[in-house]
Amino acid sequence: AQSMGVNRSTLVAALDNLIAAGMIEGRRGGGTYVSGSGWHALAHGAPPNWNEAIEEGWYYPNLPEVQLINRAEFQPGIIRLGTGELAPELMPEDAFNDILRSLSDRSRTLNYLQPQGSLELREALSDYLLTCGIHASPSAILIVSGSLQALHLISVGLLPRGSAVLLEKPSYLYSIHAFQSAGLKMNGVPMDAGGLHIPRLEDMIEGGTHQGHPSPLLYTIPSFHNPTGSVMNDARRNELMSAARAGGISILEDAAYTDLWLDMPPPLSLKARDTDGRVLHMGTLSKAVSPGLRLGWLVGPEPVIRRLADIKMQTDYGTSSLAQEAAELWFAGGYHSRHMDRLRPELRRRRDFMLELLERYFNGIAEWNKPAGGFYIWLKFTASPLSIRQLFHACLQDGVLIHPGFLYDRLDADHLRLSYAYASEEEMERGMQLLAKAARNLLES
Ligand code: PMP
Repeated sequence: AQSMGVNRSTLVAALDNLIAAGMIEGRRGGGTYVSGSGWHALAHGAPPNWNEAIEEGWYYPNLPEVQLINRAEFQPGIIRLGTGELAPELMPEDAFNDILRSLSDRSRTLNYLQPQGSLELREALSDYLLTCGIHASPSAILIVSGSLQALHLISVGLLPRGSAVLLEKPSYLYSIHAFQSAGLKMNGVPMDAGGLHIPRLEDMIEGGTHQGHPSPLLYTIPSFHNPTGSVMNDARRNELMSAARAGGISILEDAAYTDLWLDMPPPLSLKARDTDGRVLHMGTLSKAVSPGLRLGWLVGPEPVIRRLADIKMQTDYGTSSLAQEAAELWFAGGYHSRHMDRLRPELRRRRDFMLELLERYFNGIAEWNKPAGGFYIWLKFTASPLSIRQLFHACLQDGVLIHPGFLYDRLDADHLRLSYAYASEEEMERGMQLLAKAARNLLES
């Protein structure tokens, strides 16, 4: 504006006129843009300005740090201290070789299956869920291409645009993105080592709305929470169910890490306590078995399952038949429980090793939890303020990838999510040493 010799208030008034005339729109972060500008070539016959056109879709981009992480994870030699995935050597390769060999004569593997998911897999899952205390008939199960898809389907298929979702503060990174891009508001409920803070939740439910947005649904990860590693205790689970009944809200329970207990199984799931059909429950093979299979499930009332299966049909025609057939044999062939029995001692060793390294390198500058399962340690810097963003970049320069707390709660300033599932013990040792050095350097500067 200055270079054109136009003063700012004239410009703002002109923008207001354009907004009023519907020619431009308010945008994420309060900025404005000219509708379709990237698509309209300045010179006749020239291609669109793609750098501008890519700003015009309605889906939010990842935070710059997340984009960096997603690229850096595939760089050879990088030490991944925050990655929420099993290390490749912990994945059940031999079992899948068996399973894939026995699929070779199945022609239906090459065809579409029902959009709700193959009946045989849903039957196998129904049996598996029963071992978790959950009664789910095959008609109450939807197979999804990873449980993140369930979050998307629910966001666009069940929740009114502009309504608000209650969720833990902090919460799973991509749940925040799914809700946000679907035009939903979010109300973060505080939590402590025992899980959601129920009196605060009750206040928020009783308040009814958040800035005018009612909250019909609470999204929660009660067992081995991402990113804090905490477990909602038994009493808290009962209180939550009562609060939901009294306040008339429904619950979406995310059980992604439930099978990954290391010391003892977590309390019974919320779905197993559901007496009046208000809990939707989602699970996945991604955390305990294989994220690349892209196989998850949602359990809920039949109208919900049918509605979301109809959207799934419009979205991807159903989950990969190959993945579904493999998952059916995985559960029906007893591979799952054998794999979990082998995996637990390995993960326990890695967890204990990371806790040992924390004692060695972070005493006096940070505090952390001892997780009873899942992958995560939620590290809090307690010494004088330190910029986690600077720490992230300093570590990246040293070839160490960390996950800052603000990915899971935009206002968080002093946490890191560490994972003991991915890095080898050698990498952990070196990575934690470099991380501690970078943190101490920043604290001293
Ligand atoms: N829920 C939680 C809590 C997760 O941590 C993840 C993966 N990071 C997912 C859901 C989604 O996993 P997927 O789509 O691979 O099943």
